[in-house]
Amino acid sequence: MDRKIHLDENEMPDRWYNILPDLPEPLPPPLDPETNEPVKPEKLGAIFPKELIRQEMSDERYIRIPEEVLEIYRLWRPTPLIRATRLERYLKTPAKIYYKYEGVSPPGSHKPNTAVAQAYYNAKEGVERLTTETGAGQWGSALAFAANLFDMDCRVYMVKASYYQKPYRRVLMELWNAEVIPSPSNLTESGRRVLENDPDSPGSLGIAISEAVEDAVKDDGTNYSLGSVLNHVMLHQTIIGLEVKRQLEIAEESPDVMVGCVGGGSNFAGLVYPFIKDDGVEFIAVEPESCPTLTRGEYRYDFGDIAGFTPLLKMYTLGKDFIPPPIHAGGLRYHGDAPTLSLLVKSGIVEARAVPQIDTFRAGKIFAETEGVVPAPESTHAIKVVIDEALKAKKTGEEKTIVFNLSGHGHFDLKAYQDFMEGKLA
Ligand SMILES: *Cc1c(COP(=O)(O)O)cnc(C)c1O
Repeated sequence: MDRKIHLDENEMPDRWYNILPDLPEPLPPPLDPETNEPVKPEKLGAIFPKELIRQEMSDERYIRIPEEVLEIYRLWRPTPLIRATRLERYLKTPAKIYYKYEGVSPPGSHKPNTAVAQAYYNAKEGVERLTTETGAGQWGSALAFAANLFDMDCRVYMVKASYYQKPYRRVLMELWNAEVIPSPSNLTESGRRVLENDPDSPGSLGIAISEAVEDAVKDDGTNYSLGSVLNHVMLHQTIIGLEVKRQLEIAEESPDVMVGCVGGGSNFAGLVYPFIKDDGVEFIAVEPESCPTLTRGEYRYDFGDIAGFTPLLKMYTLGKDFIPPPIHAGGLRYHGDAPTLSLLVKSGIVEARAVPQIDTFRAGKIFAETEGVVPAPESTHAIKVVIDEALKAKKTGEEKTIVFNLSGHGHFDLKAYQDFMEGKLA
């Protein structure tokens, strides 16, 4: 039996899967906060290219991946699907565990799947510069990587606390020629307003989004890029699940349980959406107990950022002013979630679970010991639930097939693992 199921480059899917026509009910549209009416596409045109706005609202089930994007994907795609036999043996479970490993991309996570597509469409429509925000630096480094490949300028507003605590993600962004600004900054009105009230503000993702959007709105040749939540981001990530479909066919397997961690929902959507209409599959979305958007948030319209620049999105939310405690899984600290995923959770098609941080690091260490790969702290949330499900299968003796997304490696997160091993995690 092969442990790794590879696809050849020429077997890589050449279209993305759009879930919008297959949702159980129509997706509530984004609203313009000024009128409370659905946002007009022209208004989004101030910060997004036309093709991404079209994809955001498209009812086509499959969308062709441009050759220029495929060419860059081939730098690391197709990614392997790996059977975690050593973890299975350690757990003494009859379950089969497979993981899709997205940590092989140059920035180390699934995020370049959309960063490359977004940079491409912007470049094609003549945009010369992209802005974005980043917390721990994973999205910022993915966009820096992508913008650089299309010769675009890129400015990343990085949450100030991370800018000083996580210098190596910043170095990576600078290596790919991005400009990294600690946020809040005095380059934008939103930043200056925060600094007036609190000169020592450590920043937050909500503040950084406000700065990046304001920068893009005010400069004609500049657009803004978002790394999760929006429909077109979920769309681009489905390359993950479409590859997994082919790989499972090769392995002659079909999944019983599929698991992913959720920050804004994009790596989960990427793995799961291509399977969403399949019968008999359980889909489990895992989030941190300290930022329990899907399990304890309200399903309602809310802003994506703190200043209220973004359209209102119908989603599970903890409120735009919610500041989660500083857990190590920085990518999971967002107050909202993708509207498509929120709808699937509300309609009972996807189950959401929240897990405590300490358990996720225990799971991450077991994975590193058995399978070798050091998972990103975000991905350990999925591993914790995979282990729970494998132990449940052991009790019932069921030979379940469990598939999960290992969304990134943890090589920039060793400080977090150090704190865990020294018993410093709450
Ligand atoms: C950003 C990130 C996440 C969370 O974002 P989603 O949009 O929910 O996927 C998860 N894992 C890794 C490795 C990340 O970088």
